[in-house]
Amino acid sequence: MRVVLITLVLMLPTMSMSDSYFNALVYHHVADNTPPSTSISVAQFENHLRFLKENDFKVVSLDEALNAIQNGTKLPEKAVAITFDDAFENIYQNALPLLIEYDYPFTVFTATDSVDRQFKDMMSWDQLRDLLKHKGTVANHSRFHEYMVRVDKNDKSHFQTLTKNIQFAQNRLQEELAETYSKQKRELPKWMAYPYGEYNNQLKNWLKQENYIAFGQQSGGIFSGSDFQALPRFPAAGIYSNLKTLKTKLESRPLPVNYSLLPNPVTSKNSPDITVYWQQARQAAPSLNCFYNGEVVTPKHSDDGKSFQLPMIKTNQTGRHRINCTERFPSTNRYYWFSYQWLVWP
Ligand SMILES: [Zn+2]
Repeated sequence: MRVVLITLVLMLPTMSMSDSYFNALVYHHVADNTPPSTSISVAQFENHLRFLKENDFKVVSLDEALNAIQNGTKLPEKAVAITFDDAFENIYQNALPLLIEYDYPFTVFTATDSVDRQFKDMMSWDQLRDLLKHKGTVANHSRFHEYMVRVDKNDKSHFQTLTKNIQFAQNRLQEELAETYSKQKRELPKWMAYPYGEYNNQLKNWLKQENYIAFGQQSGGIFSGSDFQALPRFPAAGIYSNLKTLKTKLESRPLPVNYSLLPNPVTSKNSPDITVYWQQARQAAPSLNCFYNGEVVTPKHSDDGKSFQLPMIKTNQTGRHRINCTERFPSTNRYYWFSYQWLVWP
């Protein structure tokens, strides 16, 4: 009996059930008449908030959640952070009243040029300041909402321009919001959400050096082993707004792999060599299920238990591609979750 028990323990990933983690959701539009793939209807958004409340999820501010993870302090079980990208005005009109009603904190990532130039359907600086007074946080989503790594190889100054624009956006947020933040004894956070969730290692390294925390749009949970310049969030709009599948994701934990060692997520064709290192070597081959575009892909486990490799994916088109892997906790309906997204750009 003892032997059996030890084997079971050794087979489990090393992230213990007591390690703190949280899941973040990302929305864009909350409206009934905006592009379906990036929208959730007002009624369905309210369903999400009610679902979180009725199922004992604890909605936490991103600030509180990140501090807890980084300082090793305890987060409530089932902690979730709500985020919105782009600062569409429908968030102010449709989502804010519901967030106030539920008393939920949230974060809005903002591309500053669209506010400065008062683009139609985008929030104004006054509206963004108003969010801060209602448990909202406003943070950087670039200046022009530009593609960050879809680069013309002849454009030698691209990276310099890109980083200048990120700093410009941070300065604009500071100029417009610092006073309101300071009245609440808060500061503008140094966070960046990559437009379209696209980044490369060069950009990640620059952000790290400049002390930014950065968020992508690949799915997964956040814990002490995460890559803090490529934090995952679960998309929750469009086809992802279904509450049954969202429940599985919200109840998942991050798969304990070494996220900082993942390959540069940009290739000119197909997929990079996706070798994934466990945080600690596994004694038995884990029962991982991996999928690309709804098709099963079979990971190859290394003999020393330190890593697994995903097969090369033949991609027929440029743009974003993603592999998701899950591993079920023994005798539960809960999963460890891992997602890797890369960009094919010639
Ligand atoms: Zn965006």
